[in-house]
Amino acid sequence: MLSESRTGYRTRCPRLHHKTGLWLELLHSPLCARLYGRRAVKDRAARAVAVATGEGVEGRPHPDDAGLPAHRDCQGWAPHGTKELMPLRSSYDAVIVGGGHNGLVAAAYLARAGRSVLVLERLDHTGGAAVSTRAFPGVDARLSRYSYLVSLLPRKITDDLGLRFAVRRRRISSYTPKGDGGLLVDSGSPARTRESFLRLTGSERDFEAWQRFYAMTRRVAERVFPTLTGPLPSRTALERTVDDPAAWEALFERPLGETGEAEFNDDLVRGVVLTDALIGTFTHAHDPSLSQNRCFLYHVIGGGTGDWDVPVGGMGALTDALADAARAAGAEIVTSAEVTALATDGTRAEVTFERGPGSPPAGVRGTVGARYVLVNASPHTLAGLLGEEPPTKPEGSQLKVNMLLRRLPRLRDTGVDPREAFAGTFHIAESYSQLQTSYEQAAAGAVPSAPPSEIYCHSLTDPSILAPGLAAEGLHTLTLFGLHAPARLSSAKNALLKATLAQLDAVLAEPLTDCLAEDADGRPCIEAKSPLDLEREVGLPGGHIFHRDLAFPFATQSTGRWGVETDRPNVLLCGAGAIRGGGVSGIPGHNAAMAVLEHAR
Ligand SMILES: Cc1cc2nc3c(=O)[nH]c(=O)nc-3n(C[C@H](O)[C@H](O)[C@H](O)COP(=O)(O)OP(=O)(O)OC[C@H]3O[C@@H](n4cnc5c(N)ncnc54)[C@H](O)[C@@H]3O)c2cc1C
Repeated sequence: MLSESRTGYRTRCPRLHHKTGLWLELLHSPLCARLYGRRAVKDRAARAVAVATGEGVEGRPHPDDAGLPAHRDCQGWAPHGTKELMPLRSSYDAVIVGGGHNGLVAAAYLARAGRSVLVLERLDHTGGAAVSTRAFPGVDARLSRYSYLVSLLPRKITDDLGLRFAVRRRRISSYTPKGDGGLLVDSGSPARTRESFLRLTGSERDFEAWQRFYAMTRRVAERVFPTLTGPLPSRTALERTVDDPAAWEALFERPLGETGEAEFNDDLVRGVVLTDALIGTFTHAHDPSLSQNRCFLYHVIGGGTGDWDVPVGGMGALTDALADAARAAGAEIVTSAEVTALATDGTRAEVTFERGPGSPPAGVRGTVGARYVLVNASPHTLAGLLGEEPPTKPEGSQLKVNMLLRRLPRLRDTGVDPREAFAGTFHIAESYSQLQTSYEQAAAGAVPSAPPSEIYCHSLTDPSILAPGLAAEGLHTLTLFGLHAPARLSSAKNALLKATLAQLDAVLAEPLTDCLAEDADGRPCIEAKSPLDLEREVGLPGGHIFHRDLAFPFATQSTGRWGVETDRPNVLLCGAGAIRGGGVSGIPGHNAAMAVLEHAR
């Protein structure tokens, strides 16, 4: 039995509670706290998991279902029964299928170049996987619901489009707990980082290897990143640009596991390095396909430094700035308009659209002509629109959990302040051997016994996403990105979330559920998204966060000049599925716009 006070749950021994004196004594006894406190924690954890996964929870509708997303677009179909708002023209220079951030980048560039542009977005808001949302009823916290950090967005794009959007650098790069200690990488203090390595590994060796390895990736970043917004270089040209045979060999030729094992000794350090190769990518250190190397490369070259920065105002701030820039340049954006078919003779195209999901009444259609069609949706969706056999569906591999906390939890490691530990990337169950075991278990269709994940607190660096009252009360957001959670495990979301939170609890000095804030209905502020949720909500095929596995940023036989071309000359990819496409970057949107402008000259 539990009794809940304003300050939290207390424990009570049911069989003894009539004996008041004894009850009081026992209430505070360590035995009772151990026996019943544990149950209270278990019950709260079970409730949090049920709320997060939406299993067996009743109450008011989710804020999105109630029509309250933060970034609803104002243009779209008119309300039920009134005159419909259709595209203003019957034909455009460019129609863009999807109003994700990349579609908006393409729209803004083309409209600024004087082209007539229409964006058709199936959802009732723009942004795709780059949005901010008030995820919890009655709580004014605008969480970056899906993507949350920015690295790959070139300064050139923000400058060209005059975006009012800023990012903020995090001083703490990462913290990885181990037992009652941990590894802290403080990018502002090499001395402190060195000390942390020494304490963890007992020698200078891995710290020196770390310095060498990331100096190498930084040199590669400086050289490769500027190439991403130009025509695709050939493999040989890119190798020449990198101009570092050892770096080329380590990143482009040999499985990353070989380099990691040769460079680093410590299992935990090796794991921290490997995590960047596994984000949204279901693979392992020695995969001969090198999908781990490709994923790693895009995680270390962003901005020419590899830094991952905090979007001020959340991801929705970027999408809003892009939608404003596109509209200001004259682009039309129609939301709640799902493109259902695309026909082209290679010169002119016809795009058919219907009301998007959740926009009654269904079944109303429209068609619009276009010289060019730029597809921000995935290559898988594009094949369907063209009536072709779709390629094999990719498989997303992550569990995204969004939380709001009353306060940051205390850590078992008392040597680090939680405000530092949670500001950077906080790695959990991500040693090299743990990553391998989890991969093997998930590949065999089982929920990993110790699911790896990484956590980050946005509001420590940018409290502007919280209403002033919440920030003043010390509330914080917490984002968890789980690895090795492939779509094939989506039906086990509940068990996966439970096991993931248990790994987090193991490094905390108090259960996470003690720290969760509550929404207006008294429910814990936590939501979890599996790959299949992402497929349903955002249209990511198989929940793959990059639309398909990432490709090396050089030309191959099947790629065109910009990496956005398809086998129809006037249909281009402008989203994550293009070569050099994944992540919040705007790069494929930019490149598709450049391909159109070049072609149309
Ligand atoms: C949980 C999660 C966490 C992530 N974290 C990060 C991160 O921290 N940093 C980072 O850089 N990247 C991150 N990513 C990846 C990144 O968000 C995506 O790669 C990026 O948003 C892709 O942008 P896009 O505009 O190309 O496509 P999307 O964001 O997928 O947008 C495509 C748009 O097309 C629309 N659409 C689809 N089909 C149709 C149709 N038939 N008709 C009309 N519209 C259609 C969709 O509704 C959507 O709005 C994350 C992704 C996820 C899911």
